[in-house]
Amino acid sequence: MKILERGPGWNIQLRCTGKGFGGGGCNSLLLVEKDDIVAFIEKDMGGVTETSFGFRCPVCNTTTCVSESKIPSSIQSSKIVECEQRRAKVMRMEHNYDGLYSWYINIWNFL
Ligand SMILES: [Zn+2]
Repeated sequence: MKILERGPGWNIQLRCTGKGFGGGGCNSLLLVEKDDIVAFIEKDMGGVTETSFGFRCPVCNTTTCVSESKIPSSIQSSKIVECEQRRAKVMRMEHNYDGLYSWYINIWNFL
């Protein structure tokens, strides 16, 4: 789809490179909006939390990392909340018999 005029709200032009997710992007130039951004929160054994942000290309489905400095802090914090809610949902699902299956579906929806 071609953008004729940008809508209101934050958006940014980014290229699909697969950076931070193993590379292999298709090099499409995309207009990325708030809804396209996903937060990834990783906690290591020592309890250190690392947060990163990315978007998934609609052309090739590759995820590309976006540096924090390019995303307004208000969007960053709302995405972190979404990620925590997603994680809470995954934790609950793990108690179900078919939890593993649901867990994969859940992750794939956001990668
Ligand atoms: Zn792509």
